[in-house]
Amino acid sequence: MPFLIVANWKMNGMRSSFVDFISKMSGKSSGITSRLVICPPFTSFPDSINLSDNLSIGAQNCHYKQSGSYTGEISVAMLKELKCTHVILGHSERTHETDNDIKLKAEAAIESGLHPIVCVGENLADYKSGKTQEVIERQCRNRLPISGEYTVAYEPIWAIGTGNIPNNSSITEVIQIIKSFTDKNVIYGGSVNSENIENLLDITDLSGVLIGSASLDFDCFYHIVQQVEKKLY
Ligand code: PEP
Repeated sequence: MPFLIVANWKMNGMRSSFVDFISKMSGKSSGITSRLVICPPFTSFPDSINLSDNLSIGAQNCHYKQSGSYTGEISVAMLKELKCTHVILGHSERTHETDNDIKLKAEAAIESGLHPIVCVGENLADYKSGKTQEVIERQCRNRLPISGEYTVAYEPIWAIGTGNIPNNSSITEVIQIIKSFTDKNVIYGGSVNSENIENLLDITDLSGVLIGSASLDFDCFYHIVQQVEKKLY
């Protein structure tokens, strides 16, 4: 299974910057073994695009219903029509979602052939009071789909956009907790950058990374990709 590198652009970048980014990435992708998934805002999704097998487009959310009166929402079928292959679900910046919403979304995505990346992660208060295990277990129990293919992203909320990341043994411990609920791949997200990626790659059970701010600039993102390639392949 190739190492998964997911870029979460959040609400950043206009369509032109995404088209530019993806064409630069396409130019490099033949020399890359990792699987790259770039998740821009919905409005940046291209009408038609030719992508290599190891480069694809993901979404940052979807709805679990096929259609209906859900203002501002996007269905899985709409994403599929735009050649989207992956969808990030349960990101901590989408605070109004319940665990059950996330599970329903993941199941709807799987049913339609999209690969969900289901986020779990504790907040700073829970981390400080030693409740990480309890939180991760509860989220795994209530968010993960019963069957089908998906990936779990461990994203400690206190590490997102802060420059602080857990040490490798703490990440390994959480990966083991997640693996006690599922045999699916686990990736890590939270302040991943070109300075810390090499160290993160020492984590044996790590199947990929989810990158926010360091994915917005092509050179910065590509530098991370190159380090992954150099160390793993
Ligand atoms: C994220 O938002 O999923 C994320 C990992 O962001 P950052 O890399 O900026 O911490």
